[in-house]
Amino acid sequence: MTFKDLQIIEPILKALQNQGYTKPTEIQELSIPILLNNKDLLGCAQTGTGKTAAFAIPILQHLYNEKEVGNNKRKIQALIVTPTRELAIQIGESFTTYGKFTGIKNTVIFGGVKQLSQTDALKRGVDVLVATPGRLLDLIQQGFVSLGNVKYFVLDEADHMLDMGFIHDIRKIVEKLPIKRQSLFFSATMPPEIIKLSGNILGNPEKVTIKPEQKTAEKVEQSVYFINRKSKTKLLIHILNSEKYESVLIFSRTKHGANKIVKSLEKTDFRALAIHGNKSQAARQLALKNFKNGNIDILVATDIAARGLDISELSLVINFDLPNVSETYIHRIGRTGRAKFSGIAISFCDLEERPYLKDIQKLIKQEIPVVEDHPFANEEPEEIQKTVTQQQNRAFTPRPNQNKSFGNNSNSRKYKSSRPSSRNK
Ligand code: AMP
Repeated sequence: MTFKDLQIIEPILKALQNQGYTKPTEIQELSIPILLNNKDLLGCAQTGTGKTAAFAIPILQHLYNEKEVGNNKRKIQALIVTPTRELAIQIGESFTTYGKFTGIKNTVIFGGVKQLSQTDALKRGVDVLVATPGRLLDLIQQGFVSLGNVKYFVLDEADHMLDMGFIHDIRKIVEKLPIKRQSLFFSATMPPEIIKLSGNILGNPEKVTIKPEQKTAEKVEQSVYFINRKSKTKLLIHILNSEKYESVLIFSRTKHGANKIVKSLEKTDFRALAIHGNKSQAARQLALKNFKNGNIDILVATDIAARGLDISELSLVINFDLPNVSETYIHRIGRTGRAKFSGIAISFCDLEERPYLKDIQKLIKQEIPVVEDHPFANEEPEEIQKTVTQQQNRAFTPRPNQNKSFGNNSNSRKYKSSRPSSRNK
């Protein structure tokens, strides 16, 4: 199957060729014909699957084919709503890339920055608007955005919208859309609230489900270190010193934790920056730019800030803290091993995080190999925090005669330094 087989028009084919896309990904192969056929779509998929092109290409094609000749001011005909600024920017960039030879214009609006450059772009006129919910509603209220001409509506990462408390905003946005439109709804998971929301937005949709989870997990070489919380920073520095990594993304559960990690790394002469919700948009973009162009080797991120980041050839993901929501683990390790690349994901797990590890392994249906041989493996286990229940405490505290490193996993292995080449480039 090629993009040509999917009846993609020449100007878009040319742009895809320029990007080096030789064939459609699974979600593109399944979704593009449905969308070109003007059907609504309910897509169960997440970033990393080629989802953006799956919706951007047909929208660009529709708009190109319907383009009115003449000097009429551009009106917003396609609206893409996505939860984070970073995702919005990436989607805007994708529209620019795939639409390079179509003459279709897009702009991106998101909160946390001054609105002037955004309202100026809107005043000049755009065909495609990519927006985060809050800023969109704000600019609608101020009269800078009208949704009256929208023919194509995409709700991206719906489950994440729910997590971030945006569902009410989404309902308000949907109320302002014309009834006659094509709607696309994407979500990585489909809990009942999301199914209900999709029912309000879509009319008799076609469904496409892509399960990248297992694939992602399979493509990524994973390992876990059992470690006391207080020794995590030392272990991190030990790992980063043991081999040359070109680009490392470290996940911290909290913003404060992310800042602390960056400080510790800077003291040891690593070039690192943090990216999280307390940083200004300019600082987040600058950090990302510096990371992508290799000025810094290490980015320390919280989940919200990192969601959907598209950094190709990321060599290593480190979960400094394990996420308490198992799906987040898949999103995180999916930052490496994207598209055709393979990657490495290392997780630190303290005693309190053992239940999270158990849940993650259940979800990915894999036992993550334990690295037993590391300098902090023989430390006495820390006192467990009060937040863990007595029952969990009993279940996860090693028995006295058990290996002090907690490594009682049949899949345990010694840490080896022979690694895929991506790590040593
Ligand atoms: P997405 O899921 O939209 O975030 O895309 C994940 C990554 O896959 C991005 O780096 C895209 O540029 C890339 N990608 C999307 N479609 C294709 C394709 N057909 N061939 C190769 N790479 C692609």
